Amino acid sequence: MKRRRFLNLTGLASAGFLFPKSANSRTTNATQAIQNKPIVISTWRHGFAANQQAWNVLDAGGNALDAVERGVRVTESDASNRSVGLGGLPDREGNVTLDACIMNHKNECGAVAFLKEIENPISVARKVMEETPHVLLVGKGAQEFALAQGFERKNLLTPGAKEAWENWKQKQEEKRPGINHENHDTIGMLALDKNGNLSGACTTSGWAYKMHGRVGDSPIIGSGLFVDNEVGAACATGLGEAVIRISGSSIIVELMRQGLSPQAACEEAIHRLVRKHKDLDNLQVGFLALNKNGEVGAYSVYSGFQYARTDTSANEVFDSTFQMSK
Ligand code: ASP
Repeated sequence: MKRRRFLNLTGLASAGFLFPKSANSRTTNATQAIQNKPIVISTWRHGFAANQQAWNVLDAGGNALDAVERGVRVTESDASNRSVGLGGLPDREGNVTLDACIMNHKNECGAVAFLKEIENPISVARKVMEETPHVLLVGKGAQEFALAQGFERKNLLTPGAKEAWENWKQKQEEKRPGINHENHDTIGMLALDKNGNLSGACTTSGWAYKMHGRVGDSPIIGSGLFVDNEVGAACATGLGEAVIRISGSSIIVELMRQGLSPQAACEEAIHRLVRKHKDLDNLQVGFLALNKNGEVGAYSVYSGFQYARTDTSANEVFDSTFQMSK
């Protein structure tokens, strides 16, 4: 770790300059590519701190599943973060409701949605995967399961988030909350461990001031996250409704299976999403992808999407390339 570059080039980074050459290529030749492992990538600037925790696991030879769970827990427990876990912005009625999912290299997965008063939904999702015959638990049932598993009940509405919600309520003109390039959203994390196995995690408090009961893409396997250890993994952030409509993460994995590089696969998914939505004005979606060789892709509808990457050659926040400038 000592020799690693601890750089944060956000704001200075130009993706064309910083991307490894392979990330821009249209296809990946799996037989020729050199494996870059271990590696962890995650969405947004908040991914930088989460990656450090994940990297500690990966660098010590731990598995990708433990890495992504421990990594995103950092963001979930960060009270200053307004879009994930503790401190997340509530729905329009003032309830903080959390969504999360996790998937491992054996196609096993678990998820929770509309979960209240539990700080680390990603760990509940993992318990759903490991301790139940189900994939997704929601609402009261998910909370009861979490409490039975020993998770503690906690008020997740911090004073800062409460104040923001009260200010929002007073602004009558703001009828439609936006997920724009200024809202730094869900954390999605993808990791490839030293054994060459992939896992992913995705966790969020969702669309700020959403309707009570609304669930987005983040706990939906195939939309907010998908992992296929034969091929690669992908995750999403931004307007969940748009991601679900194209089954975003599973599409990216399937495009990689057809031979596209992670970068080309993310670009194709965003182009498809934009083609199918005429009303995306100022509404952001970003995808990340990682293949079995440790090659990375990142692409978004609008400028402003960032991702953190940690491997043996980098520990940085990058600006993603994008379809439209905002
Ligand atoms: N994708 C999340 C959702 O729609 C939110 C986000 O990433 O900001 O719930």
